[in-house]
Amino acid sequence: MFDLPSQCAVCRGWSARRLCADCVQRHAAPRPRCTGCAIGVTPGVARCGACITAPLPFEQAVAAVDYDFPWSDLVAALKFNAALDLAGALAALLADAVRAGTAPRPALVLPVPLGAQRLAERGMNQAWELARRVAAPLRLTADAGVLLRRVETPHLAGLPRDERARAIRGAFALTPGASTRLRGQRVALVDDVMTTGATAAEAARTLLASGAQSVQLWVLARTP
Ligand SMILES: [Zn+2]
Ligand SMILES: [Zn+2]
Repeated sequence: MFDLPSQCAVCRGWSARRLCADCVQRHAAPRPRCTGCAIGVTPGVARCGACITAPLPFEQAVAAVDYDFPWSDLVAALKFNAALDLAGALAALLADAVRAGTAPRPALVLPVPLGAQRLAERGMNQAWELARRVAAPLRLTADAGVLLRRVETPHLAGLPRDERARAIRGAFALTPGASTRLRGQRVALVDDVMTTGATAAEAARTLLASGAQSVQLWVLARTP
């Protein structure tokens, strides 16, 4: 197995990888992030103000990059054009961010699931494409068969925080028989983008209510 030369997805320069080292250094430099919601913080700050007043149900949150140029374009290509050639390079950024963090390794890595209709439209769940590629180099178990989405997420942006939480309540459930795999386990939930965190928080609450010991959130990109 060897890498064939290809073009960097950002600068179009020839590179053995889909993201060249220069672009990763320029656009994906690690920065201090809130351990509760992964938003960028000033150095030395562990938790942002929002997480101190109203913590999300995550043991820790990890993000590789800000949801900004060029990552917003690449996430859109992955999600809407099924550009799976990008999934490995993006997942590698997330795996690096997880390695750089301090959170204990989970027993299970789960994608935030799509509803059946959206999955049929897209032909794949971008969160799963990332989750399994993050889990592999970390030697963790990825499992797309634990959590399912019963209803599509309504558009949450623009809603106040408590209304967002209400709009998505009950959206997730465990697949039949999955609770035995989940009980007592430390879990990481993987998604492509975190905006408000309402969707991932509801998924985490479902997992915790079903016996998970703790839930981390690993996202490729966090809205700044
Ligand atoms: Zn490049
Ligand atoms: Zn925070």
